[in-house]
Amino acid sequence: MPISVAIIGAGPAGFYTAEALLSLPIGARVDVIERLPSPYGLVRAGVAPDHQGTKRVAHRFAETASHDSVAFFGNVAVGRDVSLDELRALYDAVVLAVGAPSDRALGIPGDAMPGVYGSASFVGWYNGHPDFCDLAPKLDTRAAVVIGNGNVALDVARVLVKSPAEMAETDIAEHAARAIHASPLTDVYILGRRGPGETRFTSAELRELGRLADCAPVVDPADLPEEDGAGGDAAVAGSGEIDREKRIRDKNLAILRSFTTLSKDTKRKRMHFCFHAAPAEIVGGERVEGLRYERTRVEQGHVIRTGVFGAIACGLVVAAIGYRASRIAGLPFDGERGLIPNEDGRVAPGVYAVGWAKRGPTGIIASNRPDGIACARQIAEDVMTTSDKPGRAGLERLLGERGARWISFAEWQRLDAAEVTAGGGIAPRRKFISLAEMLTNLND
Ligand code: NAP
Repeated sequence: MPISVAIIGAGPAGFYTAEALLSLPIGARVDVIERLPSPYGLVRAGVAPDHQGTKRVAHRFAETASHDSVAFFGNVAVGRDVSLDELRALYDAVVLAVGAPSDRALGIPGDAMPGVYGSASFVGWYNGHPDFCDLAPKLDTRAAVVIGNGNVALDVARVLVKSPAEMAETDIAEHAARAIHASPLTDVYILGRRGPGETRFTSAELRELGRLADCAPVVDPADLPEEDGAGGDAAVAGSGEIDREKRIRDKNLAILRSFTTLSKDTKRKRMHFCFHAAPAEIVGGERVEGLRYERTRVEQGHVIRTGVFGAIACGLVVAAIGYRASRIAGLPFDGERGLIPNEDGRVAPGVYAVGWAKRGPTGIIASNRPDGIACARQIAEDVMTTSDKPGRAGLERLLGERGARWISFAEWQRLDAAEVTAGGGIAPRRKFISLAEMLTNLND
């Protein structure tokens, strides 16, 4: 009997695991179970709509999904249509590739005020994630603050200021494109609680901001250290990792420095980098009217608050401060780190975690590949090939009995083709947002 594996989550971590399982001589049959009707997780709903190059990896995942030994069960939610215990009874191994879909809490006064959004919901909204399509963020404001100095903060800020022409060849959700391009927004403030030498930006993403059609990045030269790159903990070279961090830091500082000399006269919009500013309070009543921040300095890697405050008037705040995994019924959860406790991916007998659910929310799409390879090896080591668990046949029977309507990969490919056609040859696709729209299209 082949080994039967259920992978929960059809994002990068799930598909890299499926791919690695297929590459081993264990005759694995792999079922990828996904709560949404569509596959590809963050590639579809997290990666910025104007970063189409990054989304190309979906072709690789589609090849895996099309393999004879792989089945896709879209629109099947574990906990609603089938329980984790049932999957453990049906399959030799269950892999949790569920990502980190929730926002880390901001935890300051006013953070629940209308007009404050976490990046999970805001990014989901502009990317057409069905959970967030009704977010309707209020964009009738001239100024927005994006909290965080990571790549998600840059994504959010960039999508807010790009022109309609710059977004034409993207797959931004139509509702978001309409709202953003009708907004009077001219100023976006990117707030970092550390300095310009301690950001988590990658250089390509930062550099892009100097080339926007209608928006100029604004950096105060006084915020930048001397040009020799001295200062900051990462400057102390020693190991390969520290050297790498120093190179990124130096590159980012050079890019930020180049922003100080860019001509701003021809641009209508501004993206302001505000360093050493920790969010302290969201100010307003019915909705956000501003954000108070506390000046900081960084000592030995620690953020020290100075008791000196400043404020930015704004009508929108997006907190892009990282993500958390969600608790799965029947399994322990590490609330502190926001992930599923595991020992190098092993969660419980026959249960494994990969990707952000295993490691926490860091790294690019390809960072999930080593997790998938390691997990597949562990499964090959742990699972007896003599198992007679029913696997796919058992899942189909159970879902059938419950009247669950799952989307197969062949059905997804029809929806995919319809989305691409709807893009009209300019946009890469126009996304279906709801399950109802997708089912209507499949029934036509
Ligand atoms: P991230 O890289 O971990 O950055 C989170 C940022 O939020 C950090 O600057 C952090 O500051 C700040 N932060 C956390 N808590 C805060 C608080 N309470 N108040 C103020 N600031 C706070 O997370 P991310 O931007 O969500 O990205 C997640 C992962 O996806 C990263 O590995 C990222 O590189 C990757 N990603 C990559 C791309 C790309 O390659 N194009 C695009 C998007 C995302 P501290 O440093 O002080 O903690």
